[in-house]
Parts: sequence; C-alpha cells; structure tokens
Amino acid sequence: MKRITILGSTGSIGVQALQVIDRLGWQVVALTAHSNETLLHQQVKQFNVKHFACGNAEEIAKCAAIPCDIVLNAIVGIAGLVPTIEALRAGNPVALANKESLVAGGSLVMQLAHEKGLPILPVDSEHSAIFQCLQDNNSPAKLILTASGGAFFGKTREQLAQVTAADALQHPTWNMGAKITVDSATLFNKGLEVIEAAWLFGMHVDDIDVVVHRQSIVHSLVEYNDGAVLAQLGAPDMQLPIQYALTYPARLPMPAQRLNLTETGTLTFEAVDHATFPAIELCKIAWRRGGLACAALNGANEQANALFRQGKLGFLDITPAVQQAMLAAPVGNPNSLDDVFAADKLAREHVDNNRKR
Ligand code: NDP
Ligand code: MG
Repeated sequence: MKRITILGSTGSIGVQALQVIDRLGWQVVALTAHSNETLLHQQVKQFNVKHFACGNAEEIAKCAAIPCDIVLNAIVGIAGLVPTIEALRAGNPVALANKESLVAGGSLVMQLAHEKGLPILPVDSEHSAIFQCLQDNNSPAKLILTASGGAFFGKTREQLAQVTAADALQHPTWNMGAKITVDSATLFNKGLEVIEAAWLFGMHVDDIDVVVHRQSIVHSLVEYNDGAVLAQLGAPDMQLPIQYALTYPARLPMPAQRLNLTETGTLTFEAVDHATFPAIELCKIAWRRGGLACAALNGANEQANALFRQGKLGFLDITPAVQQAMLAAPVGNPNSLDDVFAADKLAREHVDNNRKR
C-alpha cells in the first residue's frame, strides 16, 4: 500500500492513474487540477482526499510537497516544472509524465534529484520501455524511440499546408490531451522525448534514434555494446507504464488487454521523414546548444501549439516559429529556475511577435 499524490488528476494521464490506484486499493494524499473543478471534486470525494488545489499555482506546489510515497506529475506544459521541483525538495520520489519539466529545466531537476537521492520514474511509454529494458544494469550504447508518426504520417508539405487543428487531434493509436496530440502530429512530441530520454538516461542526443512504428506495439528499444537489442512490447495502453512507475520495482497484476502477436500480425519500422517533419532534428540542435535553448524551444512550442489549436497559426508555420525563437536564445545552461522562466517567456513573445508581423 503506497500513498500517492497526483498533479493534473483531471487529465488523460491523471484519470487513468486514478483507475490504476483504485484497482491497487492505494491511498490518495492530494489531487490537483487547473480548470475542471467538477471532476476534481468528484475525485476528491471518491478517493476521500484531504488535500486538493485547482488553478492556483502556489497551492498546487504545496500539494506536491506534502510527504507521500510518490508524486505523479501529469500536468501538461511548463506549469509542471515548479511542482516537480517542489516534490523533490520535499523529499518525494517523482513519477513523471510531464516531459516539459525535463525539456525546460532538465539540468536543475536532475541535479536536485541526484542531491536528494530520489528517483524520477518515467511514465511516458517510450521511457518506461527503455527503463524496463535497462534493468540488467549494463550501460546502453544507443536508445531507439518508436514514434507512431502522428496524425499526418505520409503527408506531403502541400497537403500539410491545408490541415487544421481538428485534423491533428485525430491520433491513430493513443487518446491523449490536446497539446500532446498536436505535438504528435508535428513530431515535436518525439523531439521532446529525445531530450527527456537524454536527461533520464544520461545519453547524448546523437545516441538516441527515432524510428516510425505505426502499430505502437514496440514501445522503445535499447541497443547494448555487443549489438543485442532489447525491446518492450505491449498493447497500447498507458495504464501499464503508469502502474509500473508506481509499483516499481514490483510488477503487479493488471487486467489489461494482452498482446496477441498472431492477431497483431506484421510490425513495421520506417525512417522518419525529417525533411517534412524537422521537429526532432530541431530538438537535437536545441539540446546541443544547452538548457536555455531547450527552455526556449519548449516555451515556443507550447505557444505555437496553442496558436495552431486556436486557428491562428498554420501547421507548417509551427516548426519555423519554434526554430527562430530557439535560435534567438543564448547558448548555455540555466543557473536557476528564473533563467528557465525568462527563456520561456522571451520565446513565447518571439512566437507572438513574429506572427503579428
Ligand atoms: P491533459 O491535457 O489531458 O491533462 C492535463 C492536466 O494538467 C489536467 O489535469 C489539467 O487540469 C492540468 N493542467 C493544465 N494546465 C495546467 C496548469 N497551468 N497548471 C496546473 N495544472 C494544469 O494532458 P495529458 O494527460 O495528455 O498529458 C499530461 C502530461 O503527460 C503531458 O506532459 C504529456 O506530454 C504527458 N504524456 C501524456 C500521455 C498521454 O497518453 N496522455 C502519454 C505520455 C506522456 P484541468 O483538466 O483541470 O484543466
Ligand atoms: Mg510518449
């Protein structure tokens, strides 16, 4: 029996995490949301939760710091960064779905986790897969992230010039929040995941490859120096990586859909079309330039993603807008959270100003 706090409990990951916790019969210490008060109050009642916060950043950070066994951070965007830091400062292990925490503030988050001797357990399915493949304690030579390809796989630039937010929100395999679904269509999600993996597993981005795998059955792979490649497979269901992050190192039963290989049939792997979808390469460039460029890239992407969803920016304008804002950021790493938030703010303004011109 563990005591769990869920930040972002009203979102796609948050709701699935509560289903997992309900089945395990564990205790919920605190819950937080941003706008969906109705659902939050239902959850508070159902799980008999003492501490909760809605829409107030300070209160959310306080919930993250209440002593518990694991804080699951399922907030979307850089709004998750301070809660991640607060959880670690208070000595709470973190199960992390909020990849933006690591993209924007990776050096600060990892240093703090290291100082405190606390784990950051991956919830993102690819990183959970890699984490599971790494359990034999040898250092990997290479990580291979799989990508579903998103809603627009195979489309040409001419076709992409016409697509709308409604088209982008039709994801082929995963049912997720709006921001990450659009990030999947641009492939920024995979680029952010490359940076997330670099921080989580201490790898250089040059040693992290991405391969398109439309079926989302192989969740990611690890290559060792003898050439052996280990992969983690399973039906596409986020409850498995969520549960593994919470129960690690134990594996507990789960009534989930089982993988039937003969029913699944052929698994395919293809190269990413980087010319049409340059976001992954852009994320690698940001990582090589340093943490400030990553914070700028993350902020610019959040802004461009939101403008696209509001119909104010074309699909093909997202990546160039992020690129320009990222290249305008200074080279090097942040010394503080203030540096991260300053880079984030400038990058968002850069995207806004360029659009108006
Ligand atoms: P959703 O949009 O479905 O949920 C986001 C959650 O964060 C909601 O609870 C929302 O509250 C809350 N929230 C939104 N804005 C703020 C804010 N400014 N401050 C505090 N809380 C806020 O997102 P997902 O669940 O899809 O994704 C959450 C994170 O997990 C993202 O970082 C994503 O990349 C990652 N992830 C998601 C996967 C998925 O399958 N969905 C897979 C892998 C990773 P409210 O609902 O009240 O507005
Ligand atoms: Mg993922």
